[in-house]
Amino acid sequence: MKRLSNRLRYLLTRFFFCAMGLQVNYWRNRVENLWLATDIERKKEQEQLLIRNRPLNADGTEVTNIEELSKSPLLSKQMLRVNAKKTNSYQGRRFNRHTAGTTGESTSISVIPEELGRMLGVRDYCFRKWGFRLGEREARLWGRPEKGLKSWCKNFILNRRVFHPVGSETETEVRDLLKWEPEYIYGYSSLLLEAAKVIQHLDIRFKSPKCVICTAEAILPTQKEYLSTVFGAPVAEEYGSTEFDVIAFECHRGHRHIVNPWLYVENSSDSCIISDCSRRSLDIIRYDAADVIRLELNECREIGSEVIVTLLEGRSVNQFAYASKGSKFHAVHFGNLSDKYMNENSDVFGIKVVQLEYGSFEVIVTSVPKKGLLDLEQYIKRYIKYEVGYDITVKCTNEDRFPVTKQSYFISNLTLS
Ligand SMILES: [Zn+2]
Repeated sequence: MKRLSNRLRYLLTRFFFCAMGLQVNYWRNRVENLWLATDIERKKEQEQLLIRNRPLNADGTEVTNIEELSKSPLLSKQMLRVNAKKTNSYQGRRFNRHTAGTTGESTSISVIPEELGRMLGVRDYCFRKWGFRLGEREARLWGRPEKGLKSWCKNFILNRRVFHPVGSETETEVRDLLKWEPEYIYGYSSLLLEAAKVIQHLDIRFKSPKCVICTAEAILPTQKEYLSTVFGAPVAEEYGSTEFDVIAFECHRGHRHIVNPWLYVENSSDSCIISDCSRRSLDIIRYDAADVIRLELNECREIGSEVIVTLLEGRSVNQFAYASKGSKFHAVHFGNLSDKYMNENSDVFGIKVVQLEYGSFEVIVTSVPKKGLLDLEQYIKRYIKYEVGYDITVKCTNEDRFPVTKQSYFISNLTLS
């Protein structure tokens, strides 16, 4: 009975998509076929779209093939924002996508039905690789749940509920989430970790979801394993943005594959450059997404492209930690040491490192480690001294006074001159 009602509810959401002109099934099939096609065929598809759309690059020059595209100048976030405000010649219905700025900047993008259909098609393609579908019951762990009729309608259409497991309501929120029996859970890594802690503490029985998807924030292997154990489900990482929706998605072997066949993604030394060949309503040619990623080729073709994202570390300004003005080390050491610490002590918590001034760091944990804050403090100092040879000052706390940052556990508050 329950299975039947879940199936009907799923069909209702898919019906809503169709009614809004979002051909999710059609686009998912396109995505599937394009990833089965050869590189040459995919390039042909991208070029056909460029010829149709004739997007302008940052110089205002029309781009109609990949060669012209790759010679174009970079498009900054500020320029894209200006472009997005201009009224485009395309008339018709639009959907707004908005993200409150996790780094203090908010992003607003509007897309036409065809574009949103493609985005959802990519999403559905990824989800099915993990045994569930877009439109099935989703529990979303997000920022503050929106109130009001509009968001209620939106969540009803999408068959999802938003939970916010932070503060005094945490336990109630988590109980409600489990009682709701979602098919999958989607959310910020830090919030998923918070929820997992509570579940472990409550020690209650519940039906495991089919998958847990972490997005928007960096997550360490130990944390992933912990989420998987507590929720009794596989954990997959998604890399996406407001501008493009899903860009890369994890396969069962742990690679983050590029999954949107209409994006042309380039690897540069300190940034990620993305062009969207399919976009009609907005020109996005060689957009500097500012996330630091490294692209590599891999033989695995379980999902999407053979191009996989191997390094994902948020904005480039947050790449290095400074022991003093002339001596810096890579912030990845903080990720590695946290992972090692949790492993050695069979402990898991969310962690964020903030550089306050040269040689001085504040480490914010979501819960006090089993061996105490002082133990972690000593460990970090010893590790950094041993690994890179620098003495640093560390203060550990579980009071967070810094805003969440995207894709990174390290934030630099230094102004480099
Ligand atoms: Zn793979």
